[in-house]
Amino acid sequence: MTSAPSFKQELTGVFGQPIAENPSQAMVEAAYRHHRLPWRYLSLEVSPDGLGDAVCGARAMGFRGFNCTLPHKVAVIPHLDGLGESASLMGAVNCVVRRDGRLIGENTDGKGFVQSLRQMLDPAGKRIVILGAGGAARAIAVELALAGAASFIIVNRGRTRAASLVELMRTRLRAEVEDVDWQGDYRLPSSADVVINATSIGLYPDAHARLPLQVASLTSSMVVADVIPNPPQTRFIRDARAAGCRVIDGLGMLVNQGVIGIRYWTGIEPDAAVMRRALEEIFSPRLHEAHLQHS
Ligand code: NDP
Repeated sequence: MTSAPSFKQELTGVFGQPIAENPSQAMVEAAYRHHRLPWRYLSLEVSPDGLGDAVCGARAMGFRGFNCTLPHKVAVIPHLDGLGESASLMGAVNCVVRRDGRLIGENTDGKGFVQSLRQMLDPAGKRIVILGAGGAARAIAVELALAGAASFIIVNRGRTRAASLVELMRTRLRAEVEDVDWQGDYRLPSSADVVINATSIGLYPDAHARLPLQVASLTSSMVVADVIPNPPQTRFIRDARAAGCRVIDGLGMLVNQGVIGIRYWTGIEPDAAVMRRALEEIFSPRLHEAHLQHS
């Protein structure tokens, strides 16, 4: 006997404002299709004033989970039923998961970064330089400290954000941290094992923007990573490759945080290559040119 067809789809999505240029739907739904899951991932424009109602709506409609992007990563916390360890340490949530009817906030940004780094080296015992001290830097720093990195240099222009991250790392994670006030072109110490651009410098449309950094201080023993997903080949990534460094682009972090989200929601292990391909199609230079010509 064949079972009756089901027209019900399991719901996931992303809440943000603005949301129209967020490519997560293409990436996540490519995985759902590939694995023949009758699930949807909706791009949902949610204003700060509407966030509480949106979370109530997700509960009422039985969402299996959802991502939160700007400006909701911190503001969503009071609307949830609990937090995972990293989200609690960072004070920010980018992925909400329904577990036994409760909405639990997780942070998969840093975990996604560490997963892509692990494909190249084990962060345990490594000396890390992080350029930036905003949300992405915070997520990466916390997760690398939990993964056993030996020491950190946090390089940031604004002193308030830097102080907050350095304080978190020292008091909650007992990490060895140097705080560098970013003035002029920063010279990397030759002892650095991993160098990460966690600023927004290089993000489309400022694709040719230059990091204030002495490029000559990059050495071939360093692993260099950029969080900028669009375009994936930033000027920093190109400079690092030319210096002989091993590089990780921002798509690695974006794909891997998506992999972890899908694993949390569905229980399956999605194919990361399918997800990366979906993003590469969107971010290919050819499509960008078409976009520019039509805008
Ligand atoms: P925030 O606004 O929280 O932080 C921005 C950071 O960039 C701050 O440290 C800021 O320094 C620094 N910065 C910006 N402009 C300059 C400049 N001209 N000179 C020096 N420093 C500068 O943003 P997020 O941390 O949330 O996001 C940062 C980037 O990470 C974004 O481009 C985003 O696309 C990317 N991202 C990528 C993800 C992925 O999966 N690949 C996931 C999450 C984010 P200051 O404090 O001095 O202003």
